[in-house]
Amino acid sequence: MKTAVFNTKPYDRKFLEEANKSFGHELVFFEPHLTPETCKLAFGFEAICVFVNDRLDKNILTLLAEHGTRLIALRCAGFNNIDIKAAGELGLTIARVPAYSPHGVAEHAVALILALNRKIYRAHHRVREGNFSIDGLLGFELYGKNVGVIGTGKIGTNLARIMQGFGCNILAYDPVENPDCQKIGVKYSSLDELFAQSDIISLHLPLVKDTYHIIDASALAKMKPGVMLINTSRGGLINTAAVVEGLKSGKVGYLGLDVYEEEEEIFFEDLSGDILQDDTFARLLTFPNVVITGHQAFFTHTALKNIAETTLQNIADFEQGELSLVNTVTVNK
Ligand code: NAD
Repeated sequence: MKTAVFNTKPYDRKFLEEANKSFGHELVFFEPHLTPETCKLAFGFEAICVFVNDRLDKNILTLLAEHGTRLIALRCAGFNNIDIKAAGELGLTIARVPAYSPHGVAEHAVALILALNRKIYRAHHRVREGNFSIDGLLGFELYGKNVGVIGTGKIGTNLARIMQGFGCNILAYDPVENPDCQKIGVKYSSLDELFAQSDIISLHLPLVKDTYHIIDASALAKMKPGVMLINTSRGGLINTAAVVEGLKSGKVGYLGLDVYEEEEEIFFEDLSGDILQDDTFARLLTFPNVVITGHQAFFTHTALKNIAETTLQNIADFEQGELSLVNTVTVNK
């Protein structure tokens, strides 16, 4: 199928071209994000393929539908960047890759936890500069600590399993309890109890209207002093301004982020020669107890291969009229 691939980085192209040897779609790669200006490039393509930071609002969706687009193939699981209702009204089908790196993302969350609790990033810089003092690098042990997992789907469950291996007690909150988690002894609790009991809190839930800023000033007030917060899910789950205040007061003892609520303007680009315009993000970078990665938790060989194969399979299935329900996105999902 003739597909316009937006927001293409060299690694996307490499994995999509390799996987396409078995599909034979006509892929046309475009480097820019999908925006009202660049969406003209998609006119005449029945399918377009986009990523997490391409925003598909009603205006863009209408333009696409008017110019022949029928399928939007997401190279990701989350779909908070799309106006699903408008897409449905316009008769556009949306396909996604529901799971591609549940192990990789959970492992990255653990990498953030370990980097923070043993101050690995600070130690690395010191040693490179010939400073072998360990003063200020005092860590804490994970053994026996309470880890609160919010959202126990694929990634949250993997994180729970890994952290159990460190000897942590796992508390979980999810409106839908996962039998896989119950089987391994994860204790479900209310969100308030999880906030009150956890030494480390890790977010593994989707960003939807109800979960926007689930971590705000009132949630922080219920947490233990010095709590560690980890977010590898979506930036909008955390009210960053409230967390900055929490870091200043010491309420938040450690913060590990792979996502940021205003990341659209920053992540995935080399801005090292530019002046950072986002003051909140700039403030986050000043704290010695904050580690940030730029939305790379998914970024493994396994995941890129899975993303490419599932995306191309979704396009092929759509062509055949057989796109599986699990890979489509509708208003209720
Ligand atoms: P999943 O659908 O398997 O699990 C999500 C879980 O969240 C479900 O069990 C659901 O019941 C639960 N949930 C929904 N609303 C909730 C609420 N209000 N409170 C608590 N739990 C709630 O999803 P997943 O594959 O485990 O992905 C989790 C998150 O990770 C998604 O937001 C996704 O966008 C993000 N993600 C990030 C990266 C990355 O590179 N950083 C990569 C993949 C996925």
